[in-house]
Amino acid sequence: MIKELLSEEFQFDDPIIKKLDGYDNVNYLVVQGGRKCIFKTYPYSTSLYDILEAETKVLLTLQAENTGKFPKPIAFNSGDYLKKVDIKGESSICRMLTFLEGAFLGEISPSAKVYDALGDFLAKMDQKLHSIKDYVLQSRQWEWDLKAALLNTKYLGDIEDPHQRNIVRYFLKEYETHVLPIINDLRHQIIHNDANEWNILIQNDRVSGIIDFGDVTYAPLINEVAIAMTYASYDKEDNLQAACHVLRGYHKITPLIASEIKILYYLIAARLCMSVCNSAHAKKINSNNSYTSVSEIHAWSMLNYLLKIGPIAAEASFRGVIGLKTDKPELILEKIKKRHKHISPLLSISYKNPIAMECAAFQYMYDHEGHSFLDAYNNIPHVGHAHPKVVAAGQLQMQKLNTNTRYLYDLLPEYASRLTAKFPTPLNKVFFVNSGSAASDLAIRMTQMHTKKKHVMVMEHGYHGNTKTSIDISDYKFNNPKGPGQPDYILKTGLPNAYRSDLDGAQQATIAINELKAQENKIAAFIAEPIVGCGGQVPLAKDYLKNLYPAIRKQGGVCISDEVQTGFGRLGKYFWGFEMHGVVPDMVVLGKPMGNGHPIGAVVTTDGIAASFEKGVEFFSSFGGNPVSCAIGLAVLDVIEEENLQENAKEVGSYYKKLLQTLQKKYSCIGDVRGEGLFLGIEMVHDGTTKTNKKLAHFIKNGLRDRHILISTDGPDDNVLKTKPPLCFTKSNARQVVEAMEELLHLHYTH
Ligand code: PMP
Repeated sequence: MIKELLSEEFQFDDPIIKKLDGYDNVNYLVVQGGRKCIFKTYPYSTSLYDILEAETKVLLTLQAENTGKFPKPIAFNSGDYLKKVDIKGESSICRMLTFLEGAFLGEISPSAKVYDALGDFLAKMDQKLHSIKDYVLQSRQWEWDLKAALLNTKYLGDIEDPHQRNIVRYFLKEYETHVLPIINDLRHQIIHNDANEWNILIQNDRVSGIIDFGDVTYAPLINEVAIAMTYASYDKEDNLQAACHVLRGYHKITPLIASEIKILYYLIAARLCMSVCNSAHAKKINSNNSYTSVSEIHAWSMLNYLLKIGPIAAEASFRGVIGLKTDKPELILEKIKKRHKHISPLLSISYKNPIAMECAAFQYMYDHEGHSFLDAYNNIPHVGHAHPKVVAAGQLQMQKLNTNTRYLYDLLPEYASRLTAKFPTPLNKVFFVNSGSAASDLAIRMTQMHTKKKHVMVMEHGYHGNTKTSIDISDYKFNNPKGPGQPDYILKTGLPNAYRSDLDGAQQATIAINELKAQENKIAAFIAEPIVGCGGQVPLAKDYLKNLYPAIRKQGGVCISDEVQTGFGRLGKYFWGFEMHGVVPDMVVLGKPMGNGHPIGAVVTTDGIAASFEKGVEFFSSFGGNPVSCAIGLAVLDVIEEENLQENAKEVGSYYKKLLQTLQKKYSCIGDVRGEGLFLGIEMVHDGTTKTNKKLAHFIKNGLRDRHILISTDGPDDNVLKTKPPLCFTKSNARQVVEAMEELLHLHYTH
């Protein structure tokens, strides 16, 4: 049938016909003698017919100067460029185009010059397309149009890897936030909309043509540039270099403006999202095709690269390329001055060289000058900074209802049930508050009511919060030279630190038990963290709690585990820190990671303790357990499960710890590497001794900061490097930290 048609309509009497790959149609290369053409067939529909007519109009317009750079439609005998025919019983649309010579951009190793030329070429083509008016194209809406990027949201579920899925969710949300509100103000026209490396032809380092106008659309002009930039760069190591050449080339012909440049980063990311969404969808509907294409791998790697560099640095380099001036960022000293006008300097600022943070995504934070920091420190954004699922949960609920626990709403029991399901049986009542401090405070009040005792046993170097009671129970604060001193109802016991003591956990527990016995007042509670954060990331020695808890209970006290730092899967092997010690507390204090940055805390306890508390006055917290907090808390639990983050903490954490232990073997100034999962401490000492070395710890902390890695120090002598990153941290992130540490240690020894 095709042969006859080619003969009758186009005088190809005995051509060689080669079937070519097409996205959603079938193309044939038809060759006879010196004549080469492309014959295209499509499944018939009236809407596609209209679109192909519009595409023909575009291609004919581009023939005006007969440059040979654009496929030329060849008419049937009727004079029409499209024909409806039956091919093997299928109603089809056919058309014929000239064949363009040249090597595909994807086949060669293009020089920077080629990318400049591509920008130049596209700008000149777009100038020709500028005058076309076409209402079919103007009303076209489908998933491959960058201006309709959000249509791809429906394919999110087809992306198998949950973390990758959430990266796409993040970038589509960024598109919604930064691009959609201004899209209508941007200059629009007909554009090619698919300048990828398999549609661009190159001859002698020049662009000789562009094919496949199947995605032609009416859209913001900047989309043309963004798409070409995406495909120029997504398969390169120096990711944005080639993209910048395309931008430069385009801008020289058609100057771009600041508002267009501002959204380029988000457009490029959205285009990559469209690509991975469509690949995932194609795999889903065709189960025979589980093949991950090279282009899909490139798209993922570029999405990760975009996360790593962030939007501010990207915009600055795009502005630089086209010579747009960027306002000088405000000086840090100015910012500090402004802050101290109304904010007390009692609130400290990290690092010798403070950072003005602007935005963040997953394990990266971006400062006001666009530097991207690898966050190896902040444990509050537990599932990742700005996690799109957590953000969406909060936004949606805030839009719907935010009230207090004096009304009935399902989110409260739902969240309480999901949260308590994470605990062993006796821990099944939860009281919600808004911080770890409020939780510690409430915990102590409850134990005092339950036991009718006042005294509390606390851990040396422990920290539990900033309220009056929390400070009373925090040696880290009350025992500070500027602190209020130890209150008389507090019994402090020594930190069972395996690195600094020859006694084992059981022996240390015996000491604590004897202290208890020697005390004339029975205690209401014993509170400790499973790994003492402010004490310098010190895991309580093995068997310590196992031996101590029964003694506390025997004399009537309540055992409290402060899981503000250690909870929610951070320790990898354990969801809660107390599991690491083989004990079950009577009460647990929660905070920080619970809301991924949203202020939420809780006390989880037993029925019995809750019943004693219920005999007292009403408990009411204006914000504790509000619907927004519950929605966010639920989203955090969902993401931990969906992205398997506890397992990631285990795998990446043990890899990270091994790297640090290897470093410890090389450098005798690393006294100890300790902790579990993604909650680690590196104790810096004077070579070969156990003498604390604060100066070196600070040198490394500040050196890492200057290398754009965030880490902190803590411990009684502030000589322990603390690392507790968001749980989406990767092995490559861990390598980056340890390599930078090694570089600094090398510097330390050579200078
Ligand atoms: N307990 C521990 C173990 C903490 O680390 C902290 C905060 N650093 C708190 C309680 C107090 O939490 P918040 O700052 O949310 O009041």
